[in-house]
Amino acid sequence: MKIIFATGNKDKLREIREIYGALGHEIVSMKEAGICVDIVEDGKTFAENALIKARAVAKASGEAAMSDDSGLVVDALGGEPGIYSARYMGEDTSYRIKNANIIERLAGVPDEKRTARFVCACALVLPDGREFVREGTFEGRIGYEERGSNGFGYDPIFYVPERGCYSAELSPEEKNAISHRGKALRAMKEVLESL
Ligand code: IMP
Repeated sequence: MKIIFATGNKDKLREIREIYGALGHEIVSMKEAGICVDIVEDGKTFAENALIKARAVAKASGEAAMSDDSGLVVDALGGEPGIYSARYMGEDTSYRIKNANIIERLAGVPDEKRTARFVCACALVLPDGREFVREGTFEGRIGYEERGSNGFGYDPIFYVPERGCYSAELSPEEKNAISHRGKALRAMKEVLESL
């Protein structure tokens, strides 16, 4: 089966091809499939937004479509930035500034209340209309400074207790093995294997 992955992000596509390597399905990007759709992500949850993207691409192409939606949920900030993670303080604002702002907003918050998680919802929409959603979470805490140079986005302020280091200090393989996206994509791999 050919599956179009609804992203323009090359890193995501590489990660997906790594995980889905031996599956026998052909994963192509929207660009490779020649699909161009303007998608308004106006869902209220990660799962809704992932479904919105996958539905739009499935409808435009007539093929199977998959997408993911992810973000950082900080408990002490009432779940912010959540589904607005990419748009937090403006899409074009650097993560140095976004990360510094989150640390500043958590000033005085003790370790045990700095809990946070990355969440990823992965959606699959088939040409016959069947829809599947799988979620993965990655638990951690907001640190007190930026550390590490791997990863992207909020990784440098995300401390991972089970590894004793920050997410941006993990290698791509180490992160993949425990990350929200890795978990959601592997759960969706099981769905694909069952079709
Ligand atoms: P989207 O899933 O492409 O909409 O991106 C969601 C946003 O959440 C990203 O732009 C990052 O700000 C944040 N995010 C999601 N996953 C990660 C991660 O693994 N590390 C750091 N930031 C992430």
